[in-house]
Amino acid sequence: MRCVLIRYHEIALKGKNRPAFIHKLKDNLILAAQGLGVSKAEVLMGRIMLSLDENASWPRLKEALSRVPGVANYSLAFKTDLNLEELKRQVKIKLTDVKFDSFRVRASRAYKDFPLTSPEIDREVGAFIKEFSKARVDLKKADLTVFIEILPKMAFFYFQKEPGPGGLPVGISGKVVGLMSGGIDSPVAAYRMIKRGCRVVFVHFHAYPFLDNTSQKKARELVEILNRYQYSSRLYLVPLGEPQRQVSVQVRAPYRVVVYRRLMVRIGEAIARREGAQGLVTGDSLGQVASQTLENLTVIEEAASLPLIRPLIGMDKQEIIGEAQMIGTYSTSIIPDQDCCQLFVPKNVATYTSVEEITEAEKALDIDKLIAMALEGTKLVRIGPGGERLSSPRVAESS
Ligand code: ATP
Ligand code: MG
Repeated sequence: MRCVLIRYHEIALKGKNRPAFIHKLKDNLILAAQGLGVSKAEVLMGRIMLSLDENASWPRLKEALSRVPGVANYSLAFKTDLNLEELKRQVKIKLTDVKFDSFRVRASRAYKDFPLTSPEIDREVGAFIKEFSKARVDLKKADLTVFIEILPKMAFFYFQKEPGPGGLPVGISGKVVGLMSGGIDSPVAAYRMIKRGCRVVFVHFHAYPFLDNTSQKKARELVEILNRYQYSSRLYLVPLGEPQRQVSVQVRAPYRVVVYRRLMVRIGEAIARREGAQGLVTGDSLGQVASQTLENLTVIEEAASLPLIRPLIGMDKQEIIGEAQMIGTYSTSIIPDQDCCQLFVPKNVATYTSVEEITEAEKALDIDKLIAMALEGTKLVRIGPGGERLSSPRVAESS
């Protein structure tokens, strides 16, 4: 019977986390494999087995599983009774049309009471394959490896291990709010957190109707791409144009970007409270632009009470681009848009500000009112396998 064996890194699993990790991973595998012919998922001695329907398509399933955080590696495998003769017979059938000049057998036993040791299994199955194939055994550089796993009531064989993304199953580490522009960096930052087991709720600030709605379209599209890793998402679309306009009237030009960012952080926090999220994630990378100097990052962070998480802080742009290409967000991120950060922003942004200067500048503003105004116009889009659903949530005002 065809099945998939999923393996996870034991090292991440200390003590009480273990059952929760395995449970979550199993649930997520079922979500990832929806509609792809998986009839059952079972936990079996340190691995998860997915049973496949006859019409399951391995290439499609392989692609979906390659993106499930928590998966170390996985294999398309064949399950047999715990009977070496039966296993040999089935290996021979599977290898009928396969050409190979050299091979090796790699057995492992989770069931230690099996009468043969792993090297004995290697030798016995190896001799059998040699006999019918006439290929030679090569332990170092074989054309074909036959992996065998022995469990208490069943045996498996397979020929390949596919790498998974590693990391932790989505949901095991809690929830965070990801501040997502339409740019290259923020989707990569969100992905990094998803891979470490967080569920990311997205917040996008736009300046519609001051600017067009391309950035919102991009944000929706980016979230849809990230759903390959977390299956369904919530995206808050927050209008920041009018608050930005008011800031531009009251605050000196060089300070505006930092003041906008502090507004974003505060609004993000109001949404985090509504969502029960435990941190805010941004795509900041040190020194990339004026708002990302240590000084300005510190001033922006001062507006937050939740942890501000910046997974990309030590990465170069080129490395971030590489990762964006790998996760599939890059081509959407580079579509030109009208980002709210371009609104009412001067050429000369202050590279170094201080908390004192900025809090002084903010005195001219009614911050709570600006936050309330933005939240008032906020829309929530739920993006899942069934498409998009839009609503107008009530997000409690700050404090
Ligand atoms: P990105 O590629 O993510 O847009 P960036 O290098 O352009 O990043 P900035 O524009 O300074 O950097 O933004 C820094 C971070 O602030 C972003 O990574 C994102 O987390 C957040 N941010 C910026 N603009 C927005 C926005 N319009 N909506 C939501 N978050 C934003
Ligand atoms: Mg940007």
